[in-house]
Amino acid sequence: TELSHIRNFSIVAHIDHGKSTLADRLIQLTGTVAERDMKEQLLDAMDIERERGITIKANSVRIEYPAKDGHTYVLNLIDTPGHVDFAYEVSRSMRAVEGSLLVVDATQGVEAQTLANVYTAIEADHEIVPVLNKIDLPASEPERVKEQIEDVIGIDASEAIEISAKTGQGIPDVLEAIVTRLPSPTGDRNAPLKAMLVDSWYDAYLGVVVMIRVMDGVIRKGDNIRMMQTGARYGVDRLAVLKPAMTDIAELGPGEIGVLTASIKQVRDTRVGDTITHDKKPCEKPLPGFKPAQPVVFCGLFPVDNAEFEDLRTAIEKLALNDASFTYEMETSAALGFGFRCGFLGLLHLEVIRDRIEREYDIDLITTAPSVIYQIHMRSGEQVELHNPADMPDPADIDHIEEPRIKATILVPDEYLGDVLKLCQDRRGIQLDLTYAGARAMVVYDLPLNEVVFDFYDRLKSVTKGYASFDYQLSGYRTDNLVKMQILVNDEPVDALSMMVHRDRAEARGRAMCEKLKELIPRHMFKIPIQAAIGGRVIARETLSAMRKDVTAKCYGGDATRKKKLLEKQKAGKKRMRQFGKVDIPQEAFINALKMD
Ligand code: GDP
Ligand code: MG
Repeated sequence: TELSHIRNFSIVAHIDHGKSTLADRLIQLTGTVAERDMKEQLLDAMDIERERGITIKANSVRIEYPAKDGHTYVLNLIDTPGHVDFAYEVSRSMRAVEGSLLVVDATQGVEAQTLANVYTAIEADHEIVPVLNKIDLPASEPERVKEQIEDVIGIDASEAIEISAKTGQGIPDVLEAIVTRLPSPTGDRNAPLKAMLVDSWYDAYLGVVVMIRVMDGVIRKGDNIRMMQTGARYGVDRLAVLKPAMTDIAELGPGEIGVLTASIKQVRDTRVGDTITHDKKPCEKPLPGFKPAQPVVFCGLFPVDNAEFEDLRTAIEKLALNDASFTYEMETSAALGFGFRCGFLGLLHLEVIRDRIEREYDIDLITTAPSVIYQIHMRSGEQVELHNPADMPDPADIDHIEEPRIKATILVPDEYLGDVLKLCQDRRGIQLDLTYAGARAMVVYDLPLNEVVFDFYDRLKSVTKGYASFDYQLSGYRTDNLVKMQILVNDEPVDALSMMVHRDRAEARGRAMCEKLKELIPRHMFKIPIQAAIGGRVIARETLSAMRKDVTAKCYGGDATRKKKLLEKQKAGKKRMRQFGKVDIPQEAFINALKMD
């Protein structure tokens, strides 16, 4: 296709503002998919994404659109992941296109997540077309939201397109704007092949499918290609475009977006942002900005039932095949037995993987306290990366510890601002900025990542009744007074509950944990001390008193079925418990003990 007849774009939107619905309408109106094959949220293929209403992996669709100027244009939509954990993937997708539709729900206005992605789009030099969605709703306020877009984002919103992705109103204007307002791509057809690896995924029939954007040169089926970052070489088995069904194509030239298969064994062998070139006639330099996937949050995953360890291994290996950003290694814990220490891009990523193991593989899991990567500077001058509090060196040998910090942006209606500031302050935050956009405040905080990985997002949602939006990026490492806190149940250390905490917060945190555990652990026939300790020193203590009488005693002696039911219930409850020394700890205790309120 001629460059001047191509438009490549992405849709930037906060969750639920209507990205998927708009994509559906664009596909539908251009007849890209036959009416009978049309189903809702066509691009959100994965079950779990549908359920959570978020798009995790990028998807793409090629649309042919006969414009008013009489030419037929090829429009490539790349659907970017919608969550902060995937900021790097978003930045690569943005580099693969020249423009963005900024979709804002006209009843809600701009949200923090929208901001982060708009800035990524601006950094990628995108032309941005603001689109106000949901104008069919009486509560929509297009004029106010236009002003807000101009105030907060600083782009001209006077020509924002007002649409309803639901009713279809305004969709033809969006298609025309893509053609008239977004630039066409540039590139040299005669230069050596230079294509960006935008995304990859595993398909049960085809193996690994790689999505590419050609910058220069031409790629054809049968070509021998090389990935410049990994050095791997492949032969192109199949070349196609997504409509969104895979449709074979003879070649892809500059500005075009498509997919290839090349007998690649696992998604791990492909790196988002890598440069694909011809093996025999390579381009000189790879594309700039490539970054290897770096997990930032680590936690242990253990089967509740030790017998399921091999099943867990299989599940983790299978999931890892399709997710290059997820790392794992075997871990043994005195208390929990065999499991895996896993690394994730962020908390959502962690939750998605954990949910999939529990649901798709039916394995009950114990998740240990999430931890970030600490840089431990030893007195000897050596520097150690700590992924697991269990591996903490002797404090006597440590000179100082650095922890990762983030820059968090929170948008919140005025009336909840006080609560948000308090929450950030409680989590050792440093306020960087506070501005207003209409009735909403935008606060920027520097926070330790470790204070955010537990339940910051949940707390934020609860103190703001769901009205705050939140986004963050890693900002660097800083030295602080950090210690490892252990929890002892019946004098046995429960390593799964060990965590790194700030020294000044240790007592409060330890006390809260002990109080929580006292509620979460059922009574036993004996007294159980629950303690928090730093090194050998106990900093908090609770005692769970012994059970006084048989639990079945309160049932009338005669009612045998009730008694039986109660015993059965107890037995079922047992299954989700783990034994520590002589004490049974329920699975929920591990997660709930870590929540702070
Ligand atoms: P996404 O998270 O940005 O992909 O948002 P979705 O496309 O999934 O839309 C979120 C919700 O808003 C869904 O329930 C849609 O049906 C609804 N929705 C999307 N567009 C419109 C619209 O124009 N009007 C109305 N009333 N609802 C809409
Ligand atoms: Mg969606």
